[in-house]
Amino acid sequence: MNRVIAIDGPSGSGKSTIARLLGQKLGFLHVDSGALYRIMTLAALKGGIDCNDEKAVAALADEVKVEFVPKDGKVAYLFEGEEPGDAIRTPEVNAAVSPVSKVPEVRAVVTGWLRSMRELGDIVVEGRDIGSVVFPDTPARFYLDASPEARARRRHLEEVGKGIAKQTEEEVKASLLGRDKIDSSRKTAPLKIADGAVVIDSTELTIDEVLATVLAHLPTGEWE
Ligand code: C5P
Repeated sequence: MNRVIAIDGPSGSGKSTIARLLGQKLGFLHVDSGALYRIMTLAALKGGIDCNDEKAVAALADEVKVEFVPKDGKVAYLFEGEEPGDAIRTPEVNAAVSPVSKVPEVRAVVTGWLRSMRELGDIVVEGRDIGSVVFPDTPARFYLDASPEARARRRHLEEVGKGIAKQTEEEVKASLLGRDKIDSSRKTAPLKIADGAVVIDSTELTIDEVLATVLAHLPTGEWE
């Protein structure tokens, strides 16, 4: 069976950067599970659905169709025939994604998608419940964390770098803390440290140091 590296943690903890670099270094495909919850949210917003209406969101879950295409070291997602790009990173999607993600029907669909991606090759998957729920059997489970200030600063800088910043650093902090709260307290698959996961606090660490720590804790020998 193909191998899975699970990287969980709150927003801005450095999961995406580390998952991408790990993927490049090891030849694993990078899988961004948050982007799938964001696509579900975009679909709901486009359909004029109230994202706090659990029943309406649950009814939508099975209708959303996404294609998975290995591309440039990652699994790219095609929604309505194209990659959604920054349309899934707007303040509107940020505000609605946690309410959508707590709906069990949405989680069941996305979990099924993620499990199917293992057939595409070895994968490094970032998210909130990857080591605890989606791939609990993988021996490579990590939990990245950082202070709220560091996380907000990184997320804000990332948005500035992409030219999509619409909020101040303080607003970004409030938005990500709001999402963390919903993500950690929901009933289905909350954000938590998976049993046996290696916990890395990246507040004072460079990207290279985090990467080296993850590499040092990967299983040795044959594993799956
Ligand atoms: O990782 P990202 O910030 O893009 O995730 C957006 C949102 O998607 C999270 O705040 C969370 O509500 C949801 N999510 C989740 N489970 C995952 C990945 C993301 O619930 N495995």
